[in-house]
Amino acid sequence: MSKNHKKHAEWNIPNIISDNKHSTYTKSAFLGKGAFGKCFQLIDNTTGKSYAGKIILKDLIRKSEMKEKIVQEICIHKKLNHTNIVGFQSFFEDERLIYIILEICQNRSMVELLTRRKILTEPEVRYYMKQIMSGVKYLHDNSIAHRDLKLGNLLISEDMQVKIGDFGLSTEIRQGEKRKTMCGTPNYIAPEILEKKGHGFEVDIWSLGCILFTFLVGKPPFETAHVEETYLRICGCEYEIPDTVNRDAGKIFRSIFVKNPNTRPNINELAIKKFFREGYTPSSLPVSCLVVAPKFG
Ligand code: ADP
Repeated sequence: MSKNHKKHAEWNIPNIISDNKHSTYTKSAFLGKGAFGKCFQLIDNTTGKSYAGKIILKDLIRKSEMKEKIVQEICIHKKLNHTNIVGFQSFFEDERLIYIILEICQNRSMVELLTRRKILTEPEVRYYMKQIMSGVKYLHDNSIAHRDLKLGNLLISEDMQVKIGDFGLSTEIRQGEKRKTMCGTPNYIAPEILEKKGHGFEVDIWSLGCILFTFLVGKPPFETAHVEETYLRICGCEYEIPDTVNRDAGKIFRSIFVKNPNTRPNINELAIKKFFREGYTPSSLPVSCLVVAPKFG
């Protein structure tokens, strides 16, 4: 058997999956591949309801820090319950595989949305950002820092609601406490993490600034062709706001992209910035927005 064939056979995910208690699921469409797992649509055989089943091959997570990431993910995610957080249904395992049963988000992630759309209109940006901020407020109110907010972790449900997912880098932070270490590298990383100065909830605000910038400009604020160069720019807070960007949004970037995390707005202060308060926010979006800009009014 060739190496590739062997790899394939090792997964060997059954077509009918049982949680060994009350539910069985039928494996359906492949949804995507992650760092340690594969994600499939699973249909509950009793209710007919669809879920996303994140299936992890234990052989791939023998290394302790990987195991840690998954244990952390399950421990934190299972306690959460909010419209803008991917719902956690259950988890179970057998000798070879770990199954995490999650709310399914049929419209993929914001990576695919932005790849198609390049930039978003301001009403859409307000619509999506308000939902993301609502999810982040829930996390921070419950002492959880997500620490890896990025487009790939923002999933879109069938009815165009944003759901924050992937709690692999998230951590519980008590009032005033700072974290020094983290295994894994967040995408929209804040300078205090790079400089190992200790970090808290403010790293999520930094990431929200990067997400807002990407929505409005079409590319992340500190992006360069080389990571080292990008890290230098992050630590120097070097970025340019194009003239075309809404002035009130520009003010948000200037308040977030600062080295001292204590001077950044917290999630409540961010949510009431003028850009979000004024200007039109639609109450829903049609699925056509995944491909073409909506026309409002
Ligand atoms: P990662 O290792 O990047 O965290 P995951 O294992 O969480 O990746 O997910 C792999 C892929 O499966 C994602 O890129 C996404 O396309 C898909 N996916 C993950 N969770 C869901 C979900 N709840 N609903 C629909 N698709 C999902």
